[in-house]
Amino acid sequence: MDTEQLWRLTLAEMEVQLSRATFATWLKDSHLIESKDGTLLISLPNSFAKEWVENKYQKSILGIIRNFDSAAKKLEFVVHGTVSEISPRRVTAMEVENFQKKMQLESKPDPETNLNPRYTMSSFVVGGANELAFAAAQAIIAEVGTKYNPFFIYGGVGLGKTHLIQAVGNEIKSRYQGKIRPKYVPSEKFTSDVVSSIINKRVEDMKRRYRDCDVLIIDDIQFIGGKEKTEEEFFHTFNALYGVNKQIVISSDRPPQSIPILEERLRSRFEGGLTADIGYPEYEMRVAIIKEKLRERNTGLSEKIVDLIARKVKKNVRELEGVLNKIFFHQATKKIELSESDVEDIIKKSTKNFSDRVTDDQILKAVSEFFNISVEDITSRGRKKEVVEPRQIAMYLIREILDMSYPYIGEKMGRDHTTAIHSVEKIGQEINKNSSLGQKINLIKELLYKG
Ligand code: ADP
Ligand code: MG
Repeated sequence: MDTEQLWRLTLAEMEVQLSRATFATWLKDSHLIESKDGTLLISLPNSFAKEWVENKYQKSILGIIRNFDSAAKKLEFVVHGTVSEISPRRVTAMEVENFQKKMQLESKPDPETNLNPRYTMSSFVVGGANELAFAAAQAIIAEVGTKYNPFFIYGGVGLGKTHLIQAVGNEIKSRYQGKIRPKYVPSEKFTSDVVSSIINKRVEDMKRRYRDCDVLIIDDIQFIGGKEKTEEEFFHTFNALYGVNKQIVISSDRPPQSIPILEERLRSRFEGGLTADIGYPEYEMRVAIIKEKLRERNTGLSEKIVDLIARKVKKNVRELEGVLNKIFFHQATKKIELSESDVEDIIKKSTKNFSDRVTDDQILKAVSEFFNISVEDITSRGRKKEVVEPRQIAMYLIREILDMSYPYIGEKMGRDHTTAIHSVEKIGQEINKNSSLGQKINLIKELLYKG
């Protein structure tokens, strides 16, 4: 029996097993390209279909084929047209060396300022999502301490906050040739310094150290919420610096008013300067970021691959860089350019796949933590405004991440399925119009990752 006939018979059997729509969606456009040493190579129109068929129907297909061809042992799946398209390309020794040098450089912060020299203003790609934050950063560099103080920048994970605030420090240091001294500190470090200064009875030392700078850059301030002693020390440090026009730059994963259990006096200080947010980069900006990273690494990728990455990795620039790093690594070790489907595999592995690990209870817990309300509030019948949005978001996430049915979601939330449909649709529509809603949802997902 030739491969064509074998595949025709196999498909006929599959068509009986599956619904017509399912068959048409996933298998209609498939081919058996070759059969060699018991391995059968099946090609599908796109990587989505490939993944689906591979995961869901592999066993049944193999079972059917075995009835016709007992020598068949295993199946392999590819996307149409990619088999012969993989064009080998040697990566030069220079590229690998440059990349390694760069990686070394990246791991070393400046001992004086604690700033990492890789974060510069010129390597920061500007687009609609971060325009305002970038313009404010430039204004602050030009007029340190007097223009916008404090400068408070917030946004979801991996969107460039650390990059931008460190770039402000690096730029100030080089532009003013050491006359204006920046100091960078993650807020966890500030907390641990406060704690150890108390234990070692060196609180005065600690105070002096933090006040001995001209620009204090503090990263991820949301972590100090609820740590009273740290909040207090930070409040005093803030006032001491602010009082003498020293610049304060702060980053956070959310706006000041959304940081839970933050003392009111600190919140109002944070809101007293300029607040700017960083949102998700749009497609063109993602392409620009990829190109910038390629330029930094002195290497290239085909336009097709750049487009593929930009289309698939949307919500986190750090993940986007992670994908690029893996591609470079593969190219450097295997010395070939990767095919599109290889790249898709890398993307799939690098971008986090919640649905395998997350449960609906974890989603409710994450939503309740984020909004600082109880799970009972979310699932209760109360109609208070503070709980309506969290409740709708919870339903939306259970649908989006777990793909649960509406009746299931309704029951989980103590409601009927029409309410579930309404909520999921509403959030789904608003998410596109309202960037702060998108950000909230991203942050809740981040809580879920950390689990
Ligand atoms: P955050 O602090 O917001 O979680 P980071 O500043 O650590 O995110 O950014 C994650 C990675 O993405 C960094 O390596 C950073 O250089 C890169 N990145 C983010 N935004 C940009 C941008 N606009 N231009 C260039 N690189 C960016
Ligand atoms: Mg950061």
